[in-house]
Amino acid sequence: ATPAATMVGTTIGAQNGVLFKGGDVLERAKDVDTVVFDKTGTLTEGEMELTDVVAVGEVPDGGAVVEDGTDAATGESTATAEDEVLRLAASAERGSEHPLARAIVDGAEARGLDLADPEDFENVPGHGVTATVDGAEVLVGNRKLLRDAGVDPSPAAETMERLEREGKTAMLVARVPAGADDGELLGVVADADTVKPTAKDAVGQLRDRAIDVMMITGDNERTARAVAEQVGIDPENVRAGVLPEDKSDAVEEIQSDGRRAMMVGDGVNDAPALAVAYVGTAIGSGTDVAIEAADVTLMRDDPLDVVKAIRVSDATLQKIK
Ligand code: ADP
Ligand code: MG
Repeated sequence: ATPAATMVGTTIGAQNGVLFKGGDVLERAKDVDTVVFDKTGTLTEGEMELTDVVAVGEVPDGGAVVEDGTDAATGESTATAEDEVLRLAASAERGSEHPLARAIVDGAEARGLDLADPEDFENVPGHGVTATVDGAEVLVGNRKLLRDAGVDPSPAAETMERLEREGKTAMLVARVPAGADDGELLGVVADADTVKPTAKDAVGQLRDRAIDVMMITGDNERTARAVAEQVGIDPENVRAGVLPEDKSDAVEEIQSDGRRAMMVGDGVNDAPALAVAYVGTAIGSGTDVAIEAADVTLMRDDPLDVVKAIRVSDATLQKIK
């Protein structure tokens, strides 16, 4: 493109909240044949909320206290097994900044539960957290986190599958008492996120332009597919269970047959994947790291602006041909 055309395109983009980092990105965007969306915070709002707490098996009476939670007649606590599962999970998650963790802590506080101070908190990226709560090790996370700690997650299999089919992120809660060899499964907590209102329209408009639309996420296959279905992405185009450090490899794999992929993401996790994509696009309230690694920044939090970026590129370069 001529410098003048580049300037016009860049300006029109900027007026529409689409910032191109230079003229060659503006030229490349029109040649994108595949758009790969990150799920959380990109297709979804990224604002998790605690939706379910399920007790599985025998939950020890660890003394969950609910504010004003005494039965007027008997003077006994009205706290339930679910309250105890949530109290332990939320106490452990106090050490985590993850949106899944924030939702669990907020949900527990909203229910008036008295949280304990966790010790020896450990974050296991892509899997969950562990911490010592009331002297016992508490684990909150996915099936692998529990298996690696020698806890069998299968008694919660049906509950997990039901919640995941609803598109929720279900997390197992387990406890290993001090000195014990084996841990015990206590229950399941689930968080849900909502799909952005324009996500489906954006996917539809990209597909109308004969662009393949894919989704990549660290979340499990079932939850990922439920969200994909809501926005109109084909199940075979979903890459689930991708660890943060493997996202860029997944993008490279997608591009290995010569595809020109635009990766759209918001998180710190996404920066390496944005960097290896033919066009890396950071969306909205994305982190500075993502914006730094990206070729295009979408100022608004709107997936429709992905279509806009491609249209601006297309229109700018066609006019000057
Ligand atoms: P995403 O790509 O959706 O941001 P992550 O890679 O951060 O997801 O996490 C992948 C999975 O690991 C989550 O779906 C969840 O099962 C588990 N996980 C991660 N962090 C936590 C946490 N703080 N508490 C419980 N589970 C977690
Ligand atoms: Mg994310």
